[in-house]
Amino acid sequence: MNILAIESSCDDTSAAVLTAEGIQSNIIASQSIHLQFGGVVPELASRAHQKTITQTVQQALEEADVSLDDIEAIAVTQGPGLLGSLLVGICFAKGLALSRNIPLIGVNHMDAHIYANFIDHQPEFPLLALTVSGGHTQLVHVTSPFEHEIIGKTRDDAAGEAFDKIGKLLGLPYPAGPHMDRLAKKGDPQFHKFPQALLHKGLDFSFSGLKTSVLYYLEDKNDEWIQEHLNDICASVSYAIAEVLVKKLKRAAQQTSVKSIVLAGGVSANSMLREKAEGMAAKLGIPLYSPKISYCTDNAAMISITGKLKAIKGQFDDLNLKPFASLT
Ligand code: ATP
Ligand code: FE
Repeated sequence: MNILAIESSCDDTSAAVLTAEGIQSNIIASQSIHLQFGGVVPELASRAHQKTITQTVQQALEEADVSLDDIEAIAVTQGPGLLGSLLVGICFAKGLALSRNIPLIGVNHMDAHIYANFIDHQPEFPLLALTVSGGHTQLVHVTSPFEHEIIGKTRDDAAGEAFDKIGKLLGLPYPAGPHMDRLAKKGDPQFHKFPQALLHKGLDFSFSGLKTSVLYYLEDKNDEWIQEHLNDICASVSYAIAEVLVKKLKRAAQQTSVKSIVLAGGVSANSMLREKAEGMAAKLGIPLYSPKISYCTDNAAMISITGKLKAIKGQFDDLNLKPFASLT
């Protein structure tokens, strides 16, 4: 089945084409306008989506060397995300679906982060997903496609949010996660011991205390000192985040007896997290998968594969499809 997918939940406008041969294109237009504000400004995000969506979709079709006549379903992100941004993608998808009489499939963005793993791999069910992104941190027990239970989640900040907010304290540009990852590779993870909240308690996470502890730690340090020790601080913060994520992932894997583990979401691109998770899974003897780096952060390829899996289950939508902002 040839699927055109559209993703516009936050600050990336993305379109992808999936055919029987696999992903044919995955165009991502990132919005640089938010850089100067150190975070995403919702109103500016939806305007930027409107500006770029037509050319992004056109480019995805061109690169895949297909025309709209070849497209058999349109998958579009329904939520969670910024309502105004989601609306741009959904309205565009509805317009195409209506004018060309193409079936529409609404896709949950968090499902899509998980099913990004199915682009290049075939993880076995039941599986355990660690979904770590800019807005979510969840342990998800997936018994079969689209049947799942969230067995752990953050009580405050998401892991990606922690990377971004701490990076901001260190003067790094938004989003700081990839920069911290790069700098951490050259630093000492044991340079400073930052707190790992709720380490011995259940499957929930908490990252707001870590952010505060970095804030206090930096209080009496001058810029010169911070610059000199930036790699070590990034490594120590990354260690605190990766360590608690992997310890809970291990606990959840032991409790659920799953056949595979998958990492998902933007933070799953983090090298320290990947390394620790791979080591842990190998010890437990459970296969671990993570998406290729370009499928970790927001992209339409993950929407297309999720759309395909929904189509296989006969889960289509009609023109009444509405966006939703949050999971609850
Ligand atoms: P959500 O998916 O929860 O709605 P989102 O779509 O904004 O949120 P993603 O695009 O999945 O989030 O991920 C973006 C987050 O991933 C950002 O917080 C970013 O800093 C973080 N991130 C990306 N690459 C890395 C990396 N290598 N190391 C750590 N964090 C990273
Ligand atoms: Fe996302």
